[in-house]
Amino acid sequence: MSGLDSISMRNLDEQALTTLARRLAAAVTRGGVMHLRGELGAGKTTFARALLGALGVGARIKSPTYSLIESYALPNLSVHHLDLYRIADPGELEWLGLDELAVEPSLIVVEWPEHAGRALPAPDLIVHLAHAGGARDVVLEPAGARGTLWLQSAGILDPVQAGKASR
Ligand code: ADP
Ligand code: MG
Repeated sequence: MSGLDSISMRNLDEQALTTLARRLAAAVTRGGVMHLRGELGAGKTTFARALLGALGVGARIKSPTYSLIESYALPNLSVHHLDLYRIADPGELEWLGLDELAVEPSLIVVEWPEHAGRALPAPDLIVHLAHAGGARDVVLEPAGARGTLWLQSAGILDPVQAGKASR
C-alpha cells in the first residue's frame, strides 16, 4: 500500500489527528489533490474539517455526505471537499465536472475516492486512516513529487530521507 517515503503514525487521538491536518494545511495552499481513505468512522471528515479550517474556511464545514461536494472560495484558492460514499458507479460523477474542478489553484479533498474509479484527478497525497483501539493509525502516502513536497514543507518528511527514498 505504501511506498518507501510513506510516513506511518500510530495511535493518534483526535487532537493529534487534527494537529496533523492543520500542519499539512500550511503546505497545500497552492492546491492539489488529496485522497482520504479509510472505513466509516475512520476520521476522514475530522481530518478534512481540520485541514479546511486551518486553510481559512470560516464557514461551518459541513460533511458532504449528502451533497457529494462542498466548495469554498478562499482569496487565493478554491477548495472542494467531496464525499463519494453514496456513489455506486463512477458514471454518476459526470455531472460534477471533476476535470474543471482541477483547474488550479484548487485543492480537492476526497473521502471515498475508491468509489470514483478513474473519474477523479490523480492524488498528490493519499491519507490512509484506520481504527486503532480508541484512536487512529495514519499513513501518509505521497503519490507524486508534489505530495512529497507537501510532507517536506509540513516538516513531516525529512528532505534527506525523501531523496534516499526516491533513488
Ligand atoms: P469518517 O469521515 O471517516 O466516516 P469521522 O471523521 O466522521 O469519520 O469520524 C468518526 C468519529 O470518530 C467522530 O466521532 C470523530 O470525533 C471520531 N474521531 C476522529 N478522529 C479520531 C481519533 N484520531 N481518535 C478518536 N476518535 C476520532
Ligand atoms: Mg466522512
